[in-house]
Amino acid sequence: MTLKSWLAKAQKESWALPHFNFSNLEMLKALVQAAQEARSPVMVGTSEGERNFIGLREAVFMVESFREEFGVEIFLNADHSKSAESAKKAIDSGYDSVHIDLSNLSFGENVKGTKEVVNYRGPTSIEGELGYLPGESKIQNKKFELKPEDLTDPDEAARFVRETGVDRFAGAFGNIHGISLDEPALYIERIKAVRKALSEDIALVLHAGSGIPDEEIKAAIAAGISNIHISTELRSEFREELEKSLHKKGETEYAPYKIMGPVVEGIKEKAIEKIKLFGSVNRV
Ligand SMILES: [Zn+2]
Repeated sequence: MTLKSWLAKAQKESWALPHFNFSNLEMLKALVQAAQEARSPVMVGTSEGERNFIGLREAVFMVESFREEFGVEIFLNADHSKSAESAKKAIDSGYDSVHIDLSNLSFGENVKGTKEVVNYRGPTSIEGELGYLPGESKIQNKKFELKPEDLTDPDEAARFVRETGVDRFAGAFGNIHGISLDEPALYIERIKAVRKALSEDIALVLHAGSGIPDEEIKAAIAAGISNIHISTELRSEFREELEKSLHKKGETEYAPYKIMGPVVEGIKEKAIEKIKLFGSVNRV
């Protein structure tokens, strides 16, 4: 099945396709194991920083080889591409999907750059974003004040999708990148309004899913979200498990694969937890 058909199925059956970020082989390995064990389709994504660290062709080949060897339904996304140039580079490298994020530009500039990527894409699935999402993927030590005008406007969302031709749409619904001091409060009514304004074949994406209470995630899915991003919770799991493992194995353990074993296990468990929450379990 293609990414598009998985997203259509998720929307129709009211569950969400998980999007997990990874920075290295160990994290990807954990996500593949989670997908296999929980029988869930998954998107795995790399931000610009993550893919520059791994290498774009390397990320593509790692995902392809896992797909072939384990038969998992896995799709690679170039998350938060901040320029048309960066998005095109990911398309040329063989990414299955690209998220072009020009949400910090004016509406007109955003449409223009996003459209440029859509015209270039070939078979690659394209996600566009409109609306202001504060924060970055780490534990935040500050509170964020959101004003109603920061949220995505349904009419503007419809115009954006019409003018750009994207396959997926990401908006601002009270979600905040990273885990903040305040638990984010999602504007569920706004999700419903944006969902209603878009044609049915457009997938609605929720970024910054980390730290949002389970009940709000469920309400967001019921309101029409069919794709949810998790990054910060996996990063914090990575660090926590690595510190624990180093401590437990002691100063005489030098084999990286022995040190990293519990890290892979911890990330896998965290991903399975999200797969269950999103309702994508046992779909493959
Ligand atoms: Zn994001």
